[in-house]
Amino acid sequence: MEDRVVTISRAKLSVEYPTSFMLIAAMNPCPCGYYNHPDKDCSCAPGIVQRYLNKISGPLLDRIDIHVEVVPVPFRELSDDRASEKSEVIRKRVVAARKIQDERYDGSKGIYCNAQMTSRQLRQICKLDEVSQTLLKNAMEKLSLSARAYDRILKVARTIADLDNEAEIKTEHLAEAIQYRSLDRENWGV
Ligand SMILES: [Zn+2]
Repeated sequence: MEDRVVTISRAKLSVEYPTSFMLIAAMNPCPCGYYNHPDKDCSCAPGIVQRYLNKISGPLLDRIDIHVEVVPVPFRELSDDRASEKSEVIRKRVVAARKIQDERYDGSKGIYCNAQMTSRQLRQICKLDEVSQTLLKNAMEKLSLSARAYDRILKVARTIADLDNEAEIKTEHLAEAIQYRSLDRENWGV
């Protein structure tokens, strides 16, 4: 996933294909499906929810940048006709953020967006002020996040700041990025 190549080895030869892809996956919150449900109770025995999540290996979960919990939408909200933000407006924001990243990585061979930055670039590009540093340190300790998750959080925070057209990562961008680690080992099913 990270190297963006797939190697197929046979007895006589080995071939490498470019494989750059975006992985989007969905799963139930637990075997019965009601863990964290607003109205219904989860009927899973203690430890079952954690064991269910453990089916996804830690290293794989670490490489998924954004975890979002989707709770059921009540009918009154489904039928609510208030206008939500239009896709074309969102698209403009994404295109603008991509342009910022194009300029940022101009001259860095093979790097086009924040997800691809090297660890050296990460240190230069994702600088945090003191408040944000403390926030991230506390989150790392409290949520027992891995070093890989740390890098992911910084990259996602940088992208959120780009979508906001901000030159610096602000505390709110970082806080949002931390929220997207909800499935990391220690937080789910306990
Ligand atoms: Zn359950």
